[in-house]
Amino acid sequence: MLIKRPKGTQDIIPGTIEKWHFLEEQIRKICQEYGYQEIRTPVFEATELFQRGVGETTDIVNKEMYTFLDKGQRSITLRPEGTASICRAYVENKLYAQTLPVKLYYLGPMFRYENTQAGRYRQFHQFGIEVLGVENPLVDAEVIQLLWDFLQRLGLQGLEVHINSVGCSHCRAVHREKLQTFLEDRKDKLCSDCQSRLERNPLRILDCKNKNCQALTVEAPTTLDTLCPDCQEHWESVQHYLKMGDISFKINPKLVRGLDYYQKTAFEVMAKGIGAQSAICGGGRYDGLVEEIGGPSTPGIGFAVGLERILAAMQSQKIEIECTDKTSVMVAVLGDKARQVGFQLANQLRQRGIIAFMDLMGRSLKSQMKYADRVGSRYVLILGEEELEKGIIIVRDMKLGDQKEIAKADLIEFIQNIDSSEFEI
Ligand code: ATP
Ligand code: MG
Repeated sequence: MLIKRPKGTQDIIPGTIEKWHFLEEQIRKICQEYGYQEIRTPVFEATELFQRGVGETTDIVNKEMYTFLDKGQRSITLRPEGTASICRAYVENKLYAQTLPVKLYYLGPMFRYENTQAGRYRQFHQFGIEVLGVENPLVDAEVIQLLWDFLQRLGLQGLEVHINSVGCSHCRAVHREKLQTFLEDRKDKLCSDCQSRLERNPLRILDCKNKNCQALTVEAPTTLDTLCPDCQEHWESVQHYLKMGDISFKINPKLVRGLDYYQKTAFEVMAKGIGAQSAICGGGRYDGLVEEIGGPSTPGIGFAVGLERILAAMQSQKIEIECTDKTSVMVAVLGDKARQVGFQLANQLRQRGIIAFMDLMGRSLKSQMKYADRVGSRYVLILGEEELEKGIIIVRDMKLGDQKEIAKADLIEFIQNIDSSEFEI
């Protein structure tokens, strides 16, 4: 029986991979411009890292982790997100001893055991950034600015940036009590998940996807109502900087994000045209996290973008991704001797950075021309017994349908010239 790929995973095959390369290039470029450096952490970590770093009451930890015992009986989890690993790496590699802030970006697969549907997979890819070591609201704005800039450069339209402040542990405690009091009378009507959240983490009820719970919390007290003076000042400053950057945003007091460690600024970006899973990015400030996993007290902020959802949004908005195919050359041969000379010739071309194809299937000359067409080679070098004897090679321009005889000794230089200047024969 045919073995299929696991549910919720995808093969990215030629024809699609070019889009990923394009996105990855854009990501590296913008991160460099904003002064972020790449970090790569393991795809699996000790389970405890996520239990502590993401939080025991989150959907990720409760329902979505790929956790298993390895042969040494250690509990291992495939990373469901990037932030916890990066904070671990920050502590483990003592990055805090370097010049602050530490500005990092990452790119790679994440794993969550989810109900799969369009835009929701079990292996998906995130690009994210993290800034460690700054409390200043200027950095909240820089992070959102980078995100906005990235999405604008891709040409995406109709995006909505939602922001909120969930406050610090002091104002959250005040809010928690008010919210619990408000929800106590409505407890029986909440979904079973939210009934258990009421004790453990009532804030998350504001984030419930259940329509009934959403209706019940319309009038609920929000974290913005209870911000302490410090958090209030931070919140106003972030908005001020965002306005300076011409980023239009919506204040969404119900935005609390799934992860336990968020503090103060939380944000999300929604895109049109990609169906129910419209969130393309989530982020926020996590000032308590590094300490939580055993490091020095360090403020942090970051976001993660879902790359499958970005590509879906680009596709639905009919944004073409330009694949700048380089000119390539096909070496077409007739006869054994010519094949050997052609083999060497193709290698010489590749040594000079020219993309060269050769027939590997024993095709006739006519089929080699068709093959050249299919692989998109603009130039075909035709080499048979007769050409060998005369010491020449025929160079055919497939686009113009012209051809020309070139002395074998001059060929490389000739090709190098047409390759760079699109010289027409
Ligand atoms: P959602 O509410 O859609 O479950 P989330 O809050 O769980 O999203 P985050 O953990 O903040 O998502 O991850 C950031 C981004 O990663 C999301 O905005 C989304 O674009 C993407 N993402 C999250 N889960 C998946 C998934 N299972 N498949 C594809 N993309 C995902
Ligand atoms: Mg989720």
